[in-house]
Amino acid sequence: MIGKRQERIAGIAERLRAGQWPQSLALVGAAGLATHWFGLAALILAVPLAFLALALSDRRQTPPLTDEAARSAPMQQAIAESLGAARQGGARTACLLLQIDDFDRLTDRHGLATADRVILQSLERLARALRPADQLFDLGSGRLGVLLAPMPGLTLGPLLALAERLRVALTDPIPFDAATLHISTSLGLCLDAQAPARTAPALYDACLAALHEAQHHGPSAIRAYGRGMAAPTPLPRALAEEVTTALQDGRLITWFQPQICTDTGQITGFEALARWQHPTAGLIAPAEFLPLLAASGRMEVLGDAMLGNALRALQTWDHLGLDIPRVGLNLSPEELRNPTLPEKFAWELDRCDLAADRLVIEVLESVVATSADDVITRNIAALARMGCPIDLDDYGTGHASIATIRRFAVQRLKIDRSYVTAIDRDPDQQRMVGAILSMADRLGLATLAEGVETAGEHAMLAQLGCAHVQGFGIARPMPLEATPDWIAAHRAKLGPMPRIARAKG
Ligand code: C2E
Ligand code: CA
Ligand code: CA
Repeated sequence: MIGKRQERIAGIAERLRAGQWPQSLALVGAAGLATHWFGLAALILAVPLAFLALALSDRRQTPPLTDEAARSAPMQQAIAESLGAARQGGARTACLLLQIDDFDRLTDRHGLATADRVILQSLERLARALRPADQLFDLGSGRLGVLLAPMPGLTLGPLLALAERLRVALTDPIPFDAATLHISTSLGLCLDAQAPARTAPALYDACLAALHEAQHHGPSAIRAYGRGMAAPTPLPRALAEEVTTALQDGRLITWFQPQICTDTGQITGFEALARWQHPTAGLIAPAEFLPLLAASGRMEVLGDAMLGNALRALQTWDHLGLDIPRVGLNLSPEELRNPTLPEKFAWELDRCDLAADRLVIEVLESVVATSADDVITRNIAALARMGCPIDLDDYGTGHASIATIRRFAVQRLKIDRSYVTAIDRDPDQQRMVGAILSMADRLGLATLAEGVETAGEHAMLAQLGCAHVQGFGIARPMPLEATPDWIAAHRAKLGPMPRIARAKG
C-alpha cells in the first residue's frame, strides 16, 4: 500500500517537473496573469511550481507526525533564508500552517488517491491566492505550510485577512467521483516579529503552537501566535499504539462519580469517566491518554465503549434496586461529528431497554460555543428530541451565548470547577456563581457545580441555590463494583445530615 502511494506521489512530482501537469495546475502560479499567461508564464510559473514539485517529492520521505523536526526541515530551511532576506531588506516575513481537519479520517474513508487529490487541489487554490514569490510546502498528513516572501511593513491585520482568504479558498467543494468533498482547515500563523526569537525553529514552533490552539477551537479556526501558547509535545509513538491496543483489549475502563442534590442530599446521577488500567504504570487519567486517542482518530471507539459501560451501569443499579436516576456521558467533538450518532444512541438505549432520559449527554461549552458545524448542532438537537438531557460541561470557560444555549436545547449548566474553588471564602467567586445561577433560573435551566472539594464549598453552593453538586468532597470517581457500597453508606448518612436552607431562585 505504502509502496504504491510512494510510486504515485513520485509520479506526480515527475509530471510536475516535466511540465506534463494539466493546464489548470499550470495556471496556479500565474496569480492574476491568467489572461495572458502564454510566454510570460514559463518564467513566472517556475517559482511556485518548483516548490510544489519539491513539496510533493518530499512526501515520499514524509516522516511520521511525531518527528516534527524532520518533516518540517525543508520549510525551516526556507524560513531561515527568508528571515535573512527580510532582515537585510528591512522587511518582514510570516509563516502560516494549515491543517485539513479530520484528514486521517478522510484518507481512511476515501482512500489515498482521493487524499492526494485533496492535497493537490488545496495547493493549487493556495497558490492562486498567493504571490508567485511566496512558498508552499506539503508537510504530510494533511498539513500545508505557507512562507510569505519578505514584504515591507507587513502587519498582523493584513496577515489575518490573508489567512481568512486562504481558509475560505479551501472551503470550496472538491469534485470527487460523482459527488463532492467538503473540507475545513484550521490555521495557525505567526509574524516574524512576534515569534519568541527571530530564528527558523522559533518562528515555525510559534506557528505550530498557534495551529495547535486553532485545532483546539476548530474546525475552521484561525489563531495568531500569542505569548503563552505552547507547541504540542510530540506524541510518544509507542504510547499511542499501546493505548489503542488497550482500548481493543478492554483495558480502558469506566469509573463513576456521584452527583447529589443540595436540597435533599439524594443521589441524582453518576458521571462516567474513562480510565486506563495500565499493566505497569497503574491507573492513568484521561488527560494523559485522550490526546493520544484523538490524534490517532480513536475517540469514537472509546465513545462506543463508554456508552456500553454507562448503559450497563444503569442496568446493574436497576437490577440491584438502587434507584439511580441517570448516568452522564462525555461526548467528544469527534463523536459529535458522526452523522449517525443519534441512531446509534437510540438503538443502544432500546437494546438495553432503558429510557433516553436516563442518559445525560455532557457537551463541552467550548465545543458548543465554537461549533459552526451543522452535524454537531443536528446531533445534539436530535439527542435532546429523543429525550436525553443535555448538560453544558465546563460552563463559564467557553463563551456560549444564550442563543447557543437555546439552540442546543441545553437543560443544565455544569459550572466549571474554576468558579467553585474557594467559593466559601471568595466574594468574587460568590458573585460570579450568583450571576450564573440567576441567569440559569431565568432561562429555566438546572445547575450543577463540579469540583466541589470541601464541606464549606458545598454549603455555600447550596445557600446560593445551586441544585446539584459533584466533586471529591462528596466522592472521588470509583469503579462500578464500588458504587453499591458507597450508595448504601451515603444513604445511611443522609438521615442525620443537616438540611441547608437554599436561597430563593
Ligand atoms: P470533566 O468532564 O470536567 O470531568 C470532571 C473531571 O474532574 C474528572 O477528571 C474528575 O475526576 C475531576 N474531578 C471531579 N471532582 C473533582 C474535585 O473535587 N476536584 C478536582 N480537582 N477534580 C475533580 P478526569 O476523570 O481526569 O477527567 C478529565 C476530563 O477528561 C473530563 O473532564 C472530560 O472532559 C474528559 N473525559 C473523561 N472521560 C471521558 C470520556 O469517556 N469521553 C470523553 N470524550 N471525555 C472524557
Ligand atoms: Ca464532564
Ligand atoms: Ca467538567
